[in-house]
Amino acid sequence: MIDIGIATLFPDMCEAFLSESIIGRARTAGAVNITCRNIREYTLDKHRRVDDKPFGGGTGMVMQAQPIYDCVTAMISELPEGVKPRLIYMSPQGKTLTQQLVKELAAEQSLIILCGHYEGVDKRVLDELDFEEISVGDYVVTGGELPALMLTDAVCRLQDGVLPNEDAYSNESHYNGLLEHPQYTRPEEWHGRRVPEVLLSGHHANIKKWQDEMSVAVTREKRPDLLEK
Ligand code: SAM
Repeated sequence: MIDIGIATLFPDMCEAFLSESIIGRARTAGAVNITCRNIREYTLDKHRRVDDKPFGGGTGMVMQAQPIYDCVTAMISELPEGVKPRLIYMSPQGKTLTQQLVKELAAEQSLIILCGHYEGVDKRVLDELDFEEISVGDYVVTGGELPALMLTDAVCRLQDGVLPNEDAYSNESHYNGLLEHPQYTRPEEWHGRRVPEVLLSGHHANIKKWQDEMSVAVTREKRPDLLEK
């Protein structure tokens, strides 16, 4: 079972998401272990501050090294003997999260994910603990919480006991480099649009052939770059 720790200034924001739906049920069932740790609890500042103005000037605040270092080292020390976590800082400057990287992370025993906020975090703590940086795309959001939740969700989906079976994720877009075929549900006709007849035929081989062909066609139409790869 994978162990994921999220170091954040907003644990309630993370818990609200992680307690619902498939991930919430997976946590309750013990298929994944996810904990959210409040970095503010580790500050040594008497006013409980965790950030300060950037050296060199500029707008916004920078998260200080000390509370992050103490929080993350405490999280590491609480892991079972011999478990070495992969330390990830969610950052718009990191390598882009892909399904390939998600698969790699899903095979780890433990991830500790740091969420930045404001202008980001003091670089020295990233260097000191040797964080790897991962981005959810070439845009900037307010904090690392949503990116961390996206990564956590994607990794948890690949753990045993989270989805009903391996087909539930291995047929999905990006798992094998292609996009998934279109999906339909009842009714058979809606606004004059009929579900493709083959899907109503009950002929499994023909359905599989149609789905495979549609997967390639959809990829060619929407993301030809994936086919080139
Ligand atoms: N000043 C930083 C820069 O220009 O690189 C951006 C700081 S951003 C407003 C605050 C935090 O949000 C970051 O420390 C990071 O944790 C998170 N964040 C923002 N965009 C992200 C992205 N695309 N992927 C992952 N994390 C992101």
